[in-house]
Amino acid sequence: MADASHEQWLAQIDAELDGELSLVERAALAKHLVTCGHCAGARASHLEVRVALARSAGNPHAFVVPRPAIRAGTLALWVVIALGAGVVGGWVAHHQWGGPGSGATLEESRGTIVVH
Ligand SMILES: [Zn+2]
Repeated sequence: MADASHEQWLAQIDAELDGELSLVERAALAKHLVTCGHCAGARASHLEVRVALARSAGNPHAFVVPRPAIRAGTLALWVVIALGAGVVGGWVAHHQWGGPGSGATLEESRGTIVVH
């Protein structure tokens, strides 16, 4: 069986954090986490995300994160990821086409555009 099931365990982790697992399922998950650093690490970061979401929802001591907070938080997360990707993309483009040697810095080319 081995790793066929990492994805399934990750789904179980989400369900556990939502308070949707039975005791038997939680026991199975706990057993897997003891032997699997990958899933244990994933659970820790899932928890951190939920703590951040609960905080942003104004309830840092919540037992589970209410669904609407997850949706809003997920949206915010994607915005952050999109911004990050944009920054990285811009940085890469800058280094490919505007990097050292081409002469113009970003500031200079902006000045040029304004002058024209
Ligand atoms: Zn695992």
